[in-house]
Amino acid sequence: MKVLKFGGTSVGSPERIEQLLPIIRSQPSDKHLVVLSAVSGTTNDLVKLSELYEGKDIEGAYKHIDLLHQKYKKFVNELFKTDKGIQEASVFIDNIFDLFYQFKHKNFNSSAERIILAQGEIISTTLFHLYLKEKKVPSILLSALDFMLIDEDKEPNIDEIRKKASLEIAKHGEETLFITQGYICRNAQGEIDNLQRGGSDYTASLLGAALQAEEIQIWTDIDGFHNNDPRYVQNTKSIARLSFDEAAELSYFGAKILHPQSVFPARKYNVPVRLLDTMNPSAVGTLISGETTNQNQIVAIAAKDGITAIRIQSSRMLMAYGFLRKVFEVFERYKTPIDMITTSEVAVSLTIDQTDNLSEIVRELNSFSAVEIDSEQSIICIVGDFRKNNHGYATIVSEAVKHIPLRMISYGGSENNISLLVPSIFKIEALRSLHNRLF
Ligand code: ASP
Ligand code: MG
Repeated sequence: MKVLKFGGTSVGSPERIEQLLPIIRSQPSDKHLVVLSAVSGTTNDLVKLSELYEGKDIEGAYKHIDLLHQKYKKFVNELFKTDKGIQEASVFIDNIFDLFYQFKHKNFNSSAERIILAQGEIISTTLFHLYLKEKKVPSILLSALDFMLIDEDKEPNIDEIRKKASLEIAKHGEETLFITQGYICRNAQGEIDNLQRGGSDYTASLLGAALQAEEIQIWTDIDGFHNNDPRYVQNTKSIARLSFDEAAELSYFGAKILHPQSVFPARKYNVPVRLLDTMNPSAVGTLISGETTNQNQIVAIAAKDGITAIRIQSSRMLMAYGFLRKVFEVFERYKTPIDMITTSEVAVSLTIDQTDNLSEIVRELNSFSAVEIDSEQSIICIVGDFRKNNHGYATIVSEAVKHIPLRMISYGGSENNISLLVPSIFKIEALRSLHNRLF
């Protein structure tokens, strides 16, 4: 069994959907579980719709629903070739849009919002299933809501996912092509929920891990991880192989191609992940596995925006123990993850990207320290083989950014990462300058 996940742009138009079947058929494996995102733009449209309802702008919501409905009617008319196919898909689409209108009568809350957000993936998977049916290709549409389960802490439960998903698949023992929704799940209360934006990759990885798939393929619109951000830097190259650790750093620190959390289930259950390009299916892409192949070299550079740096200075830090614990406890209480840390004898600087509780955090820190905030920072992450015998890399990196103000530098935290924190206005220059120096 292979898990094949196709992202929003890969199902973004009728022409793109037509390209999926040849890709699926070209796989040598016998069984395939296809995980789909919503059609690109749809989840944003559904977020917008929820906001309109929440703001009690019913007229705005209806206009928005109409526009989206028109878009899907056109989509169906182009994707399906027979009257019967068009008819069946139209009935399905009309039912979904009827549901959208009904939220007017409801007290709009977060559970209503999550029901609306779930429809994007329900639409894309059902349309694909009906499309295959029209082409007389047998497929089984599985509802992810039957097996993608998260607990009270919103953590997926792999053992439950394995039990429930295997059961659903076993009901159709002879079948070889299964389709299910990315992103959506059920929470501990049994309500419809989701794995956060971009979560379809995570679904694919969780299912691949749970079902011990041969491989998890993530099909997007670029031929794998590149060694730098192609939006800002010219002549970037696709990286043929990455270890799970390298991929985790790269996806977390910026490279938008893979949802960061999706590396962990695959790593834990040792299922290789292959990143591939739907527009260029024969390109090798990037294979992420448990093997370390990039020895003694710098592999890639990525950047993450929207970072806030916090400097915390204790009046009594000198030789004081327990200070860092007190600092970390504050962030723990507000469930705010820390990304980078640097310390000195009298102060500690750290970065966060979730600022929802920043003012409360600062208030608590202020009770035992002085706090300084720098917002609009970017982490530049350099991934490579930085084991202690490979000396000299820190010099090369700092040389490349000597004309750029640095807020923090972190080296030695792991063996495959050097991180720099720079004001976001210098990000592009830092990426380019490092690229020229390192590759
Ligand atoms: N459709 C969801 C989103 O746009 C999930 C995904 O595409 O991965 O965030
Ligand atoms: Mg994505």
